[in-house]
Amino acid sequence: MDLKNAVVLVTGAGSGIGAAIASHFGKLGSSLFLVDKEQDTLKNAGNFLISIGVKNFETFAADISQELDSKKMVNQAIKRFGKINIVIPCAGLIRDGLLLNLEKETKKVKSKLSFDDWQDVLNVNLNGTFLTVRDCAEKMAEGGWPGLIVPISSVNKAGQLGQLNYSSSKIAISLFPKVIIGEFLLKKILNIRVVGIAPGYTRTPMLEKMNQSVLESLLKTVHLNRLIEPIEIAKLIEHISSNEALNGTTVEITGGICHSHGVVK
Ligand code: NAP
Repeated sequence: MDLKNAVVLVTGAGSGIGAAIASHFGKLGSSLFLVDKEQDTLKNAGNFLISIGVKNFETFAADISQELDSKKMVNQAIKRFGKINIVIPCAGLIRDGLLLNLEKETKKVKSKLSFDDWQDVLNVNLNGTFLTVRDCAEKMAEGGWPGLIVPISSVNKAGQLGQLNYSSSKIAISLFPKVIIGEFLLKKILNIRVVGIAPGYTRTPMLEKMNQSVLESLLKTVHLNRLIEPIEIAKLIEHISSNEALNGTTVEITGGICHSHGVVK
C-alpha cells in the first residue's frame, strides 16, 4: 500500500483513536476523509490538522448508524477523492451499567440496564460498523483499488462486567475479518484485506466516561502499567497496511492484559 497515494476514510475521526489515526496518516501524506457526528467536533479536528501541516482532508458529518448517512458518506468520499483504500470505522460509544442493580437490604431490583442503553451501543458500535464496512467494501470491490478494512473491536470482547452491551458489540466485530475475508475469497474479491484490531485501555475521552475506580483496578492487570496512547494504535494500523500477511484476523494491542490477575498466588 502506497500511503502517500492512499485515501483513508475514518469514522469517529474527531476524537480519540480516530483523531490520532487522522493525524498520523495525514502526516504520512495520505488523503483523509474524516467522518464524525457533530460539525463542531469535525471543525476542531480540522483546525488541529491544519495546525500540524495536514491539509489534504475533507470532513463529513454523519450518523454512521443510519443507512442513508452511510451511503451519502461513501458517495461523497468517492466524489472528492475518486477512490477509497483504507477504511477505519472508529465511531463508537459506551453506556455502562449492570444488568441488574439490587437494593442491599431488600434485594429488590433498584435499576437495570435500559433497553435504550443496550440499543444505543449496538446501533452505533455494531450496526454502524457493519454499514461503514459494507458500503465502503462495495465501492472498493467494484473499483478494484488496493484496500484494507480495519474494524475496531476491543479487549473487552472478552466480557467486561458492566459492559454487556459494549462487550457484545465488540465480540461480534472481532469476527468481521474472518467471515468477510472468507466471503471475499469465495467471490474472488482479492484486492481488499480485512484486519481488525482490539485495543486495550487507551487514553481517549471514551475512557473518561468509565467508572474511574473500575478503570484503576483494570489497569492493575496490564503488564505495561499505563494506558495505551492513541498514536500507538495508529502506528499498528500503519504496520498492518504494509504487511499483506496480516489478513482475516483481529490483532490485540493491549499492553499485556492478565485476566486472571488477583487469583494467582
Ligand atoms: P471517543 O474518543 O469517544 O471517539 C469516538 C467518536 O465517535 C466521537 O467523536 C463520537 O462522537 C463519535 N461517534 C459516536 N457515535 C457516532 C455516530 N453515531 N456517528 C458518527 N460518529 C459517532 O472514543 P475512542 O476511545 O477514540 O474509541 C474509538 C473506537 O475504539 C471505538 O470503537 C471504541 O469502542 C474503540 N476502543 C476504544 C478503547 C479505549 O480504551 N479508548 C479501547 C478499545 C476499543 P461524540 O463524542 O459526539 O459521541
